[in-house]
Amino acid sequence: MTIPFDLKNSIRTIPDYPKPGIMFRDITTMLGDARAFRCAIDELVQPWSGAKIDKVAGMEARGFILGGAVAHQLSAGFVPIRKKGKLPHTTVKIAYSLEYGLDEMEIHDDAVVAGERVILVDDLIATGGTATGAIQLLKQIGADVVAACFVIDLPALGGAKKIEDLGVPVRTLMSFD
Ligand code: IMP
Repeated sequence: MTIPFDLKNSIRTIPDYPKPGIMFRDITTMLGDARAFRCAIDELVQPWSGAKIDKVAGMEARGFILGGAVAHQLSAGFVPIRKKGKLPHTTVKIAYSLEYGLDEMEIHDDAVVAGERVILVDDLIATGGTATGAIQLLKQIGADVVAACFVIDLPALGGAKKIEDLGVPVRTLMSFD
């Protein structure tokens, strides 16, 4: 897709964070720029305007900021997927691998009604470990996961392809080598 030039420019890159050799793509500069934040949300929402989306799911923590705004625009509900131990009601859990290690995430087992159409939103897809885990959780509680949407793709790490191989279409707004 065509990326608005200033949207990519609104992302800051921090070398060697959180570990030496990692180029961390920092979206806080995009979030703090009203025009860039609006543009990112509009671009994430655009394919779904007029479509029936029941819920938007977002991963802790940047997925909450983007997913919450997308859900509001689509008049959809929002489903938080959180790191273990943060959700108060009965949950379903999954272990998942990240670009920088292993973790566990969970979702409330009653967060969707079976068959509800859900899109997943996060800031960035790298190896796809986080999004794969989130999609598995959503499917486990009965969601129809219609797409996964990210501001940033790191195509060299193959995550978007992994998600598409699961049968979930992926939309990303920009990529970094
Ligand atoms: P993956 O599971 O390897 O696809 O990594 C994606 C997850 O790690 C997402 O939840 C991102 O928020 C986070 N992440 C990995 N690398 C970056 C980065 O460079 N900037 C911001 N978030 C990142």
